[in-house]
Amino acid sequence: MGKWEILDQFYLIRDYCRAGYRKVVLCAAGISLLDGVRPFITTVLLGYLLDAVYEGAPFGRLLRIALTALGLECLCYCMSSILSEIHNQKHDYIYEQQNGLLNKRLLTMDYKYLEDPNTHTMLHTIRNAGTDHGLIGLVLEDWKDFFQALTAIVTAVVIAFPLFTQVNPLREGFLNSWLASLLLFVVIAGLVYFSFRVDIRYGKRIRRSHQKRAADESLLEYYMGIFESSERQKDLRLYGQRRLVQEQTDAASGRVQKEVDAEAALAAKEEIVRRAATALIGLFVYLFAGLRAYLGLITIGSVVTYAAGIVQMSEAMADLMSVIASIRTHAPYCHDYAKFRKLGSRKEEGKKVPEYGPGSRFHVEFDHVSFHYPGSSEEVIHDLSLSFDTGKKMAIVGKNGSGKTTFIKLLCRLYDVTEGCIRVNGVDIREYDYEAYCDLLAVVFQDFRIFAFEVGENIAGSGEMDEARVREALDKAGLAERAKTMEQGLHTFVGKEYDESGVNFSGGERQKMAIARAIYKDAPFVIMDEPTAALDPVSEYEVYAGFDRMVGKKTALYISHRLASCRFCQDILVFDRGKVIQRGSHDELIEKDGMYRELWNAQAQYYRRIDR
Ligand code: ADP
Repeated sequence: MGKWEILDQFYLIRDYCRAGYRKVVLCAAGISLLDGVRPFITTVLLGYLLDAVYEGAPFGRLLRIALTALGLECLCYCMSSILSEIHNQKHDYIYEQQNGLLNKRLLTMDYKYLEDPNTHTMLHTIRNAGTDHGLIGLVLEDWKDFFQALTAIVTAVVIAFPLFTQVNPLREGFLNSWLASLLLFVVIAGLVYFSFRVDIRYGKRIRRSHQKRAADESLLEYYMGIFESSERQKDLRLYGQRRLVQEQTDAASGRVQKEVDAEAALAAKEEIVRRAATALIGLFVYLFAGLRAYLGLITIGSVVTYAAGIVQMSEAMADLMSVIASIRTHAPYCHDYAKFRKLGSRKEEGKKVPEYGPGSRFHVEFDHVSFHYPGSSEEVIHDLSLSFDTGKKMAIVGKNGSGKTTFIKLLCRLYDVTEGCIRVNGVDIREYDYEAYCDLLAVVFQDFRIFAFEVGENIAGSGEMDEARVREALDKAGLAERAKTMEQGLHTFVGKEYDESGVNFSGGERQKMAIARAIYKDAPFVIMDEPTAALDPVSEYEVYAGFDRMVGKKTALYISHRLASCRFCQDILVFDRGKVIQRGSHDELIEKDGMYRELWNAQAQYYRRIDR
């Protein structure tokens, strides 16, 4: 564990305190103090009681001592129980809270991190660390045990200190010497250290085994997603891949089981060694204290107090070592959490707000922009420089993989450029407030998602919808007739996952909903990436024909592999291998020898063949 990794755990605890879990943390601290001190109350008062009996004290005094022990023990127990009650009330939901914090981070982090496999490995580690109470439960438990053990050690040292220091100057003998006390101390320290090393060694082995199964667990999670999804099962069934997935799942769960068994065996061995070391310490201390009492150096009551105190201390020390080992074992998870929570929110840095009103124009400029995806060295956009003014229809065409979607993703700030700069109205788009910048854009991606919410909520992007505007958007996207047949109207659920009366809309209907969502947003830029891919020819025609009606006078960037559908755009950009190699209107481009004409002819030929 690095020197500063301990701080990761405090960040984690601090985040939970800020998220309303301060009470849980304070209660945990109180419980550890009380539980640390409690065992010593009986130990000390039992010593007093024995001495009093030995001295022939009256019954009243004996009763007072016994009642004091009982009272104090009861008080500690009650206080600890009250704190536990308060602690557990909120602690039971801590895993949900953990997921809430992680999800919030996932929703706000830079998009590029969502595609980074490291992010998912981190997330998996964090989510799977600990059991019912998640990583935070694990860390709180560690620190609770740490403070409990520390309190017990400090209390035991205070109580048992005289055993080592009481030497009678009038008597001779090795047992009455400082050397004997020192020797006992060294033996205890040696056994505790041995126990600690064992913990560390086993902890490392357990951690290795845990890491080994993390990849398989991740794989199993992926397979579970396949089993539960009717969409994915479709391909699985049709291509006879059920057996393949079943075999892979069985193999992965077999490997996980093997590692879990190995971890349990290691934990059991570790416990045996720890208990043996504690028993040995007890043996030496009782022997030492007993012989000192036999020589008359200490009273019988002190033998019980000191010996029990030291045994408890050695147990507390072993616990402390074990908890330190556990803190070290869990440190990498917390380190992942610390890394995860720091994952980019650079998009929050910009503060400028783009100013616009109805009919506002924007000047967009790509200035020597290059880009490669995170984790890939292959440049997808090469030194791209172009500019355009909004207020017209533009199309982007090109072969698959030529960088069209990436161009849009950069414009939408899903990724930051690797080199160069994108400006809108002369301002680097990174300087704009991210949310305010996003308000400028309404995008329909090829891989759009319509969620299992109500239709209206999907279109409005919120539970609070302007029903008239939602209907208008549905109408413009060509869904007016379909909307009329929905029994629950705009409150009809998409899909049946969460509502039996929900409707399984077709791919084309979902695509129209995605278009309606973009229309409802009423942003000055409308970007459509293959917006008709899932539509039937009639719907496709309707979308083209109604395109002007849909976007009005707004700027529309339109990506399509069907060149015929781009003819209505005044400005066409032809992409090839991350560069714009041609630009102009359809009439201009078709005249020139180049990629556009090549693509046009290829498609025209294809359609002619179909016609025949
Ligand atoms: P187009 O939209 O023109 O079909 P894209 O912009 O989607 O092309 O892709 C351009 C190139 O970038 C392709 O080679 C593709 O494999 C690569 N690419 C796309 N998305 C990613 C990603 N998330 N990570 C790495 N490479 C990607």
